[in-house]
Amino acid sequence: MSFFKVNNRCNGCLACVQNCPANALAYEDQGKKRILKHNMALCARCGNCWRICPQEAVEFQYLLKGAWDDVAIMELVSCAVCGEPLYTMDFSETLAHKLKKGVEPLCPKHRKELPLNTWKRLSGVAVQKNEVEL
Ligand code: SF4
Ligand code: SF4
Repeated sequence: MSFFKVNNRCNGCLACVQNCPANALAYEDQGKKRILKHNMALCARCGNCWRICPQEAVEFQYLLKGAWDDVAIMELVSCAVCGEPLYTMDFSETLAHKLKKGVEPLCPKHRKELPLNTWKRLSGVAVQKNEVEL
């Protein structure tokens, strides 16, 4: 997907191609068609094509604004206690493979709290035991 857009006022004069300082514009004649080409990786976003175009055909605002493209979508693993999203399922599998054991899905807060809760639970049992014995 390109953010360099040319509207239908373009008449293929090639002024932009000839005046692009980064060689980011080119054209190709295929049979009876002329194709105007733009290479985003080369483009310096200088705006020269927009300034120079006699047809006001370069829609430079899209080039300045840009947008985020989704390049990958993955399943998430959530904290087993509060459901906060943690990391991707694939990352969890990579980690488990490297550590040669499963990773318990816990957020930093609940990872810290868990030993404390375990201790509280155990001490609660001890208090109840004492009460019974008294
Ligand atoms: S300068 Fe404008 S009209 Fe000419 S080819 Fe480029 S975009 Fe099209
Ligand atoms: S913005 Fe500048 S570098 Fe990019 S295509 Fe236009 S003239 Fe070339």
